[in-house]
Amino acid sequence: MPRLPNDCFANSADMISVDQAREQIAKVANTCADIEQVSIDKAGFRILGEDIIANMDVPPAGNSAVDGYAFSFASYQDSKTLVCVGRSAAGAPFSGSVQKGECIQIFTGALLPAGCNTIAMVEDVTVHGQKVFFPEGLKDGANHRKAGEDLKKGSLILKAGTRLRPQELGQLASIGKCEIPVYTKLKVGLFSTGDELCNPGDAHKPGSIFDTNRFMIRTLLENYGCCIQDYGILEDKLATVKDALAKAADECDLILTSGGVSMGDEDHVKAAVEATGNLHFWRIAIKPGRPLAMGQVKSAAFVGLPGNPVAALVCALQFVRPLITGLSGLNMKDAALPVFGKSSFLMDKKPGRTEWLRGRYRINEQNEPVIDKYSQDGSGIISSLTWANGLIELGEDVNRVEPGNMIRFYPFTELFK
Ligand code: AMP
Ligand code: MG
Repeated sequence: MPRLPNDCFANSADMISVDQAREQIAKVANTCADIEQVSIDKAGFRILGEDIIANMDVPPAGNSAVDGYAFSFASYQDSKTLVCVGRSAAGAPFSGSVQKGECIQIFTGALLPAGCNTIAMVEDVTVHGQKVFFPEGLKDGANHRKAGEDLKKGSLILKAGTRLRPQELGQLASIGKCEIPVYTKLKVGLFSTGDELCNPGDAHKPGSIFDTNRFMIRTLLENYGCCIQDYGILEDKLATVKDALAKAADECDLILTSGGVSMGDEDHVKAAVEATGNLHFWRIAIKPGRPLAMGQVKSAAFVGLPGNPVAALVCALQFVRPLITGLSGLNMKDAALPVFGKSSFLMDKKPGRTEWLRGRYRINEQNEPVIDKYSQDGSGIISSLTWANGLIELGEDVNRVEPGNMIRFYPFTELFK
């Protein structure tokens, strides 16, 4: 498995923009996944590991798009009355061929026999015994699904790096593919750090708080299709953090921690990472978020997320998401797509940095998209995240938002996929 080049997160710039940070992540994040074959019933939402070429035409043969009567258009041009000489049903084709002046009864999906190229819908004809009366105005080739009109044999149908949604699985099934080459799942090791943390289910002691970040980030990683190794809570002790990270680096492609990366006496993640790899504090012009710790432990990628839950989730969505995209082999074009709506609020903003606010996108009574912002913006306010259905993004240039201004919004549904 090709891993990261040495010290690839080094970054000489003092302060970088969001775009610069993402560019550098995209450069570093080449897939470290292997390819495995999985059966098609297990391939849903996995990432395709190889280009897929159609080994056959789809549909494999010309067939009917409707229930009705099939004939040669030349016969129909001569006479609007044709003699029915047989029937072709899905899975039970007509074995003969259809001559001039003749037609056959046909059903949706049934093969079109030799001598037929056009089908009239059953609703549009009148039948008396063997005689079928056709209306004026039918078009040459009507209701004829041609062989290969969906996929041509030999054509590239899906590219490596494609997420296999229901429709891609349908496409693979349509060419009879049952073993699908997919990238192996990215192995992500997850830690929380802090002596104040305890697990939900533990007795709550004075001075402790429940670990929230690990559960948020875990769920996010599950959605991203990662294989998660949950290493639990690390105490604020250098030796413990160092040993745990070294072990995780042997077992994982990417290590994520939260907390412990500020410069306080109890913040040991920095020293622990530096002891076994490299760590760089990227100063990105964003709010919320302090410097984002990016690095390597041995050859595993490392990201130290901020401890404050809102900052941890926002940084995971904005920076870890593209890192995981690249490392797991997913095509970068699968980037999150924003929507736009009218601001319902007034806000002054410091230009020169990107801000993400917890927002709610809604449609007002005039059918216009409107975006509200949460009343509190502290980075420990988890209820702002549960209230929101996405993140408002205010770009570097913005210095003020007024009610009615069009603003950019990333629905969580986009950021979670
Ligand atoms: P730190 O970066 O370790 O100084 O943490 C910053 C703040 O985030 C402190 O108030 C921590 O208690 C809090 N915090 C750190 N990790 C977590 C976590 N996993 N869950 C909830 N809060 C956390
Ligand atoms: Mg801490």
